[in-house]
Amino acid sequence: VKERLFLNEIESKKVALQRALSEANQANQLQRSFLANLSHEIRTPMNGILGFSGLLSELTTQDPEAINYINHINSNGKLLLNIIDDILEVSRIETQQTEKFISTVNLHRLIDEVVENFRQKSSGLEDITLHTNYALQTDQTNLKTDETKLKQVFNNLLDNALKFTSQGSINLSYVLRDGMIEFAVKDTGIGIKPENHDLIFTRFGQVEKGLSRQYGGTGLGLTITKAFVELMGGEIWLQSTYGKGSTFYFTHPADFIDKKTQQESRVSTSNYNWNKKSVLIAEDEKLNYTYLVAALKATKINVLHATNGKEAIDLCKAYPEIDMVLMDIKMPDMDGFEATRQIKKYFPNIPVIAQTAYSTNYDYNKAHESGIDDKIFKPINKKELLHLMSHYLEEMPNEN
Ligand code: ADP
Repeated sequence: VKERLFLNEIESKKVALQRALSEANQANQLQRSFLANLSHEIRTPMNGILGFSGLLSELTTQDPEAINYINHINSNGKLLLNIIDDILEVSRIETQQTEKFISTVNLHRLIDEVVENFRQKSSGLEDITLHTNYALQTDQTNLKTDETKLKQVFNNLLDNALKFTSQGSINLSYVLRDGMIEFAVKDTGIGIKPENHDLIFTRFGQVEKGLSRQYGGTGLGLTITKAFVELMGGEIWLQSTYGKGSTFYFTHPADFIDKKTQQESRVSTSNYNWNKKSVLIAEDEKLNYTYLVAALKATKINVLHATNGKEAIDLCKAYPEIDMVLMDIKMPDMDGFEATRQIKKYFPNIPVIAQTAYSTNYDYNKAHESGIDDKIFKPINKKELLHLMSHYLEEMPNEN
């Protein structure tokens, strides 16, 4: 009898545990979709603000004051979007939802792109020079990595280096050691005392406290940076002399692959004339669609619109003259991955460019499997979009 009672007890504990587990899973699932939705819901209006203020500043307004105001809207909008992204990213990290999406990118090109953005951003800061130092030849640096996460690591470290340095130089370099790439971002800024070296990698951890803070920031950048570096299989640490400067080091597996990527000889003209071309925009958000149409207006390209994946497939079948698809990923009924898979079944040569809000969550494997040719992240910059499109419209004409 005793034994049976014992077994019954175990059985009921097991049921209770299973229930608790299922509840926890449900809560986790809810949290996941909550984060994904929140990210999407916030990004959509932000893209509208950023996109249209960008277009507005291109209209020939004579009033320098107006131009100045528009630029403020744009740069503050970007700042706000970054803060929101950081908060969401930290929640993802804490709920262990950060995933790695590996693809092959050219390391030097990735760094050059990041550094070029910084040069443009910091054009007013003549007292700081920004250098890069490469140990390898560019054609040897095709690296297997999570492109958006690696980019963000460089962005965060350079952002800090620039923020905490008022004069001197910032140097980005790397060496190869024990199968790893060891990167260093070195600045001649304010430096960090040894007792704060651990603090700054914690959530909201900042050296400066209180209302007298003179540097902006949320204290989340290094938390995210550390999580991303570790997710990609590396480590991060720093050396610093207080008052003289800091060097942040991080490692990344040296997974170089011996493959020549396509030569990127993208056309650089900014006056595109695509009046004989057609593009299908698959986008369920009206504001995003309106923005894309406005951004493409000057190219005279013919635009068709689908508001979900099914419509996109139908339109491709009905209009064989479509030269390209700009595909939103998150759409009702059928998402952009599935729609692309189906479109590619019938029209393997139509280039499909994903235009998506999920930068750090962009699933490269899914994109690759579905046949997506390229991607661009929202908020979509007009110049970047045209540049990317020209690559497919002008160099690889559609042979359907
Ligand atoms: P934020 O820059 O938004 O405050 P971070 O997590 O990126 O957040 O950095 C945390 C803190 O680490 C900063 O507030 C600053 O005190 C210190 N820090 C980071 N990078 C540097 C640097 N290059 N030089 C001096 N201090 C730095």
